[in-house]
Amino acid sequence: MKPKLSLAITLCGWLFPVAWLLLYRLEERLYVGVYEIKAFNVLVLLVPFVYTIIGYFVYEREKNFTRLKKSEVEYRLLSQELQLYSKALETMQLGVTLTDLEGKIIYSNPADLSMHGYDGDDIRGRSVNIFAPNTIWNPMTAEKIKMMKRWRRESVNVRKDGSKFPVMLMSDVVMDFAGNPVGVVTTCEDITHRKDYEAKILSLAHYDSLTSLPNRFLFQDRMSVAIAAASRQRQMLAVLFLDLDQFKKINDTLGHSTGDKLLEHVGRRLGKCVRPSDSVARFSTDPELHMLARFGGDEFTILLPGINQAEDAEKIAQRILDVLTKPFIIDDRELFINASIGIALYPRDGVDNETLLRKADMAMFHAKESGRKNFHFYCDSMMALKSERYSIESELRKALERNEFRLVYQPQIDIPTGRIMGFEALLRWLRSGNEVSPNAFMSVAEETGLIVPIGDWVVRTACEQIKCWQEAGFDSLSVAVTVNISVIQYRQDGFVKAIAAILKEVGVDPRHLHLELTETTLMERTEEAIIKLGELRSMGLGISIDDFGTGYSSLNYLKRFPLTILKIDQSFVKEVNFDKQSAAITKSIIELGHGLNLTVIAEGVETKEQAEFLIENGCDGLQGYFISRPLSVEGATELLKKGDFSGLMSGRL
Ligand code: C2E
Ligand code: CA
Ligand code: CA
Repeated sequence: MKPKLSLAITLCGWLFPVAWLLLYRLEERLYVGVYEIKAFNVLVLLVPFVYTIIGYFVYEREKNFTRLKKSEVEYRLLSQELQLYSKALETMQLGVTLTDLEGKIIYSNPADLSMHGYDGDDIRGRSVNIFAPNTIWNPMTAEKIKMMKRWRRESVNVRKDGSKFPVMLMSDVVMDFAGNPVGVVTTCEDITHRKDYEAKILSLAHYDSLTSLPNRFLFQDRMSVAIAAASRQRQMLAVLFLDLDQFKKINDTLGHSTGDKLLEHVGRRLGKCVRPSDSVARFSTDPELHMLARFGGDEFTILLPGINQAEDAEKIAQRILDVLTKPFIIDDRELFINASIGIALYPRDGVDNETLLRKADMAMFHAKESGRKNFHFYCDSMMALKSERYSIESELRKALERNEFRLVYQPQIDIPTGRIMGFEALLRWLRSGNEVSPNAFMSVAEETGLIVPIGDWVVRTACEQIKCWQEAGFDSLSVAVTVNISVIQYRQDGFVKAIAAILKEVGVDPRHLHLELTETTLMERTEEAIIKLGELRSMGLGISIDDFGTGYSSLNYLKRFPLTILKIDQSFVKEVNFDKQSAAITKSIIELGHGLNLTVIAEGVETKEQAEFLIENGCDGLQGYFISRPLSVEGATELLKKGDFSGLMSGRL
């Protein structure tokens, strides 16, 4: 606004003397006579000064008025802005609290109030400790002000009802124009969801979803902590490595969902064993540190810190084996499962995670090798065995090239006629001049996949032998050579084609070749097996089911498999004269085989009594040391020349 009035007044004041002068000029024509009055002249001369002074005062007032007007506009704008800010504060999701320098609440926005369960202004003037009871409000020192600049931290706040919840807080100091602190503003975010999510992720990363037990990562983490504590306190610690015996069989034959349920039950039972109880009350450390984990597959690990002697670990191991002997009821079916346990001790066997776990694993492997369902402590000789395993692996890789394999042939006798019905081809490895049985290297061959080329070699060599015998005139169709097929070989996609190709290449009638597969192999992916076996059968090959009675055969499938021979497992034959149960099982296997139209052969027949029992109970064929040990090609050829065993059989029986 311009100072119009003050200017007009001042101008008016100066108009007086001008007018006075004009009047004076007109004096001759217009006689007024006032000019003679001196006082008037002085008065007229004073008027502009008086008006200027008045103009000045009016100007000052006008200036103030303009300033006032300006600040009124500014004030209006400011209050509009403030309204916007306060609206933003009212509607924002984030809690905002303003406190004075003593930590007294000046203001809390609605989000903050509802987050903490308060309503209205009932918190104004109260200490900020009502949100965080454990917070100690220190005086505002320069250092604290510095620290509080955009100070972010996670904390736990308390609601009015006493419940706690996780929050993310960010504080900042509010300064006045002079730069002095006047209060603290804190934003508060409820991070319950984020924390839950984090916990879920953490749980997924650290816990096994099937058994809810800690997984290998968490186990190893705890193990490191326990080892550090054991080292400080000069204590002993045990690591148990547990592997379920023949779990794969259950998985393969009853399906993965049954296998999973069994693992869940096993986990629960193991959990009860590991918890410190009266029998192991001597454990001195925090029971929280005792840990059972699912290490992977059917492997569990147990950490026992603070044990006083090896026997403490032994007790737990024995307790585990004991509780596992009771059957598990899964889907109305009774399942039995055992475990083998390896134990390694800190500091005796190792001082770090990796060494202890490796040695416990090695000891477990040993427990399995020595008959399963037991536990073993690690000892240094196991390391030697392990390196023996490595050397088997590296030598086995070269054995095919070096032509170190050969087949031996064990005859199978047809009981009614006494004639040779066939041979089982058994693999031998001439390792550094010593003959090695497949039991010593088969697991390595399977684990490394070397069994596939070795298996092909077996089929090819057996076919070449058949061809050789045929060419030598032993072309009786009833004689067949049986080869053992490993599950790894059988699972290969091109398995059937590979067999067909070898037969074609060598030029052998498929009827002379029998494939022997174990019960467990066949019960894996049963529908696929029906197709695979069907293809082999339609080519003319015979199919034997080996080691019958040891797996979990489903009779339903057995009926659908196009089998030709069923072989009773040696373990029953061995006991047939002493153990009623084995005798009963053997009898029912013979009946079952006949019911399915299969030829039943008993293997591992070592004594006359066993042979008599089998003959009496209608078994069709015998194989075993009682008849003959596996023979070299020459030995088998000699036997074929004789043609039958009737003389030998009648002589022996
Ligand atoms: P298997 O198929 O059950 O073979 C029978 C095993 O029992 C053979 O052991 C045989 O020598 C032995 N045996 C035969 N008669 C008697 C007897 O009267 N008493 C006793 N105690 N044992 C007897 P071997 O040759 O050591 O073979 C062991 C296992 O290795 C075989 O068990 C078979 O599963 C596997 N195997 C052998 N050759 C091959 C092969 O070419 N390929 C594959 N994949 N596995 C093979
Ligand atoms: Ca066999
Ligand atoms: Ca067998």
